Amino acid sequence: ADIQQTLAASIRAIHDYPKPGIIFRDITTLLGDAAAFRSAVDELVRPYADLAVDQIAGIEARGFILGGAMAHQLSAGFVPIRKKGKLPHTTVRVAYSLEYGVDEMEMHVDAVKPGDKVILCDDLIATGGTAEGAVKLLRQLGAEVVSACFVIDLPELGGRKKLEALGVEVRTLVS
Ligand code: IMP
Repeated sequence: ADIQQTLAASIRAIHDYPKPGIIFRDITTLLGDAAAFRSAVDELVRPYADLAVDQIAGIEARGFILGGAMAHQLSAGFVPIRKKGKLPHTTVRVAYSLEYGVDEMEMHVDAVKPGDKVILCDDLIATGGTAEGAVKLLRQLGAEVVSACFVIDLPELGGRKKLEALGVEVRTLVS
């Protein structure tokens, strides 16, 4: 509970961003605080210490920062899941739902191998649409999504339930 409170206090709330009425949870303040960044990564990797994880898959862009640190600490590889058009090699692509409309995300076709144990990582789960798209991509390539982790959960938006309904374990640090 202490760590949760410290982490929660290091996250900044920006009102009316990106639109009026929205409260944006800004983790740049957590990342810029050496102790908070370290403890967030420590807490994220703790449940996975004894698993033989092959890859951490991070969702652009904040999932890259957290996922890169996790991969280093777990001696796993890192795989980027990016918005369409950013990856140079052959990709697999999936459409995913946003609050208003849809977008597409991609992975390199050879980024994971069938049977790889992969942990998905992002800064925040809201509706779960983004993470659901990432799970579909990873499964399309035959990876086993052993868990999905996020610093922040917005539970009233239902993302955790959406992922759990897909059979993915969800771990979050701050609600
Ligand atoms: P979802 O698809 O509705 O679960 O939205 C989660 C995605 O949107 C993640 O990639 C987040 O980084 C981003 N996101 C949504 N709301 C916030 C926020 O308040 N702070 C930071 N990222 C957010």
